[in-house]
Order: sequence, then C-alpha cells, then structure tokens
Amino acid sequence: MRLLEERIRKDGIVKPGNVLKVDSFLNHQMDVELFGEMGKEFYRLFRDRKVNKILTIEASGIGIACIAAQYFQVPVVFAKKSQSINLDGEQYVAKVESFTHKRVYDVIVAKKFLKEEDRVLIIDDFLANGCAVAGLIDLVEAAGAAVEGVGIAVEKGFQDGGRLLRSKGIRVESLAIVESMDERTGEIQFRS
Ligand code: 5GP
Repeated sequence: MRLLEERIRKDGIVKPGNVLKVDSFLNHQMDVELFGEMGKEFYRLFRDRKVNKILTIEASGIGIACIAAQYFQVPVVFAKKSQSINLDGEQYVAKVESFTHKRVYDVIVAKKFLKEEDRVLIIDDFLANGCAVAGLIDLVEAAGAAVEGVGIAVEKGFQDGGRLLRSKGIRVESLAIVESMDERTGEIQFRS
C-alpha cells in the first residue's frame, strides 16, 4: 500500500535492534484518516472470506482493527495482556514472547467472545517474529473457531514471522513489507 509506505519513509524512525518507530501516526498518535485507508484495503483483501469477527491484541492493534471493522461490519475482540477484575468467567489463555519488551506474557480472551462458529480475521500493527500472531491463532484454535486470515499493517520481511505463518498455509496480507532498514542512514526498503 503506497500511502503507508510513503508515510513510513517520511515519518518512520529506524531504531537499534531492528525496531521501526512509527509513533507519530500509528503507535502513539494515530492518523485516523490513514487508518481509514488501511481499513478499506484490509476489506478489499479479505472481503471474499466470510469474516464475522476481528481479533487483535492490546494496545496498538485496537485502533487499526476498529476502523477496519467498520468496513467488515463485525465486532472487534482484543486479547488482553493482563488479568483484571473486569475479566470474569472462563478464559482462553496463550503465551506470547514480546519482541519489543523481551519478556513472556499471557494473552487472554474471555470464552464468551470467541465461539466455535466464529470466522476470525486477525489484525495487528506489526509482524516481526510472529509470536503475537501465533498467540492469537492459539486462542482462536482453542475456541474451535476458524482463522480466515491475518492482516498486518507493517511486516518486517527480514524477520521470520511472515514466512513461518505462510508456510503453515495461513493467508497473511501485509500493507507494507519492509525488506531492509538501516539504523545508521535511516534508509528503508520495501518489498515490491
Ligand atoms: P512479533 O510477535 O511478530 O515478534 O512482534 C509483533 C509485536 O511486537 C507487535 O504487536 C508490535 O507491537 C511489536 N513490534 C514488533 N516489531 C516492532 C517494530 O519494529 N516497531 C514497533 N513499533 N513495534 C514492533
């Protein structure tokens, strides 16, 4: 998606440790107009699947997922990263190793929000090693529901997540795939 690539080139900052910082439009401040275009594109890519629910993970996936959901006209469920008194009833829990925080945490969804008949589109902001998406897939599978696809805003193509998921036959569509990025020059190359 050219619009997203241009924005990453303009405002993305390459940080040490293969981290791309996009907090001025995606991860902290959010450009809702851009999210609208991204949502439209996710809908174009996955409209052939009978998606009835979007699943994402807090926090950065939520904004993108909600705007996309307006096009699919389906609810969004976001997996929580910590227990809270508002999480009651039975839950599905999966383990995820965080790329940005380098620690293992649980992702949790209440069983009442994921059912066997659900056809789920997973949406997240970044795909790096694929741990976050793998955790979300575990939740969907634990519920006996179907993963219709995975929609990602920014995939870092030089990390293994995309290859691993696609090799399992999962349909992964990324709006921008970073082929390489140079922390010294700030240069970012996209997969064409
Ligand atoms: P993975 O689980 O695929 O290794 O990493 C994906 C998760 O880590 C995403 O949910 C995202 O929040 C975070 N993440 C991974 N790489 C980056 C990055 O380069 N920049 C930002 N801002 N977040 C990242």
